Amino acid sequence: QNGLKKTRTGFWGNIFNTLTGAEITDDLYDDLEEQLILADVGADMALRLVERLRREVANQHLKTGPQAMDALREILREEMEPFGDMELDGHPAVILVIGVNGVGKTTSIAKLANYYRSQGRKVMLAAGDTFRAAASEQLDIWAGRAGVPIVKAGEGADPAAVIFDTVKSAQARGYDMVIADTAGRLHNKANLMAELAKISRSVHKAAPEASLETLLVLDAITGQNAISQAREFCKAANASGVILTKLDGTAKGGCVVAVKQRLGLPVRFIGVGEGIDDLIPFDPASFAEELLP
Ligand code: GDP
Repeated sequence: QNGLKKTRTGFWGNIFNTLTGAEITDDLYDDLEEQLILADVGADMALRLVERLRREVANQHLKTGPQAMDALREILREEMEPFGDMELDGHPAVILVIGVNGVGKTTSIAKLANYYRSQGRKVMLAAGDTFRAAASEQLDIWAGRAGVPIVKAGEGADPAAVIFDTVKSAQARGYDMVIADTAGRLHNKANLMAELAKISRSVHKAAPEASLETLLVLDAITGQNAISQAREFCKAANASGVILTKLDGTAKGGCVVAVKQRLGLPVRFIGVGEGIDDLIPFDPASFAEELLP
């Protein structure tokens, strides 16, 4: 995964070096905690990881840095492990994508469409961000690149109606997945809740059996800040998972480790570039291995 090169060689490279070279001492734990904070796991998570590592080292009578690194890798994996798989059942399965403008929402929708299409699913997009005309136009261009159809409406149209129409059209045409864009204005929690609740009702009305996943897109470059801001609305939005974008653009990347603990949501995909193939289903074990090889 070349997209994670910066992350691997950046702050995590320092953590790797800190652990490989050393004997296990109190200084090592202090160093490690500092490095983890620099790698953007957040202060609480850094402390939690170091405390867990201390216990593990004591319980297993670990002696060397490399042994501690194996233990830390396993702890990281556990902290990121999802509670279960995504629910993508029904005809169609529906994925709503939410996120503030600029985080990479449009690109991520196209990448998701491309990914699921490559898995053999028939994907249709819904241009549910009707607040800005440009949003639909951008998504339309990306739909072309991904080779999937899109249902659009004019600026100011009701997003719930657009998504309802898309679900109906998917059913009629034998498509088994709808990926829907939503407006990128998450600042007003009450509006967001009302809009998403309405969308959810219209999905249910159009396809009572359809599963509904709501993926929140966050930008890894803004990392811990993005997570702090997301805490406000991810409950209100009833989000079920996270897409973390732009991991290729940061030497930190530690926010991945903190998402589940701070938002109560699993990371489902990571974005590692601007191209349509630059989205990877998130696997905690290989990610932990990537950070601390
Ligand atoms: P939106 O406003 O949230 O819909 O954001 P866009 O999808 O238009 O993306 C904003 C910018 O971020 C664009 O220049 C994208 O190419 C870029 N971008 C999105 N995802 C990634 C990623 O995973 N890595 C990198 N390097 N750039 C990304």
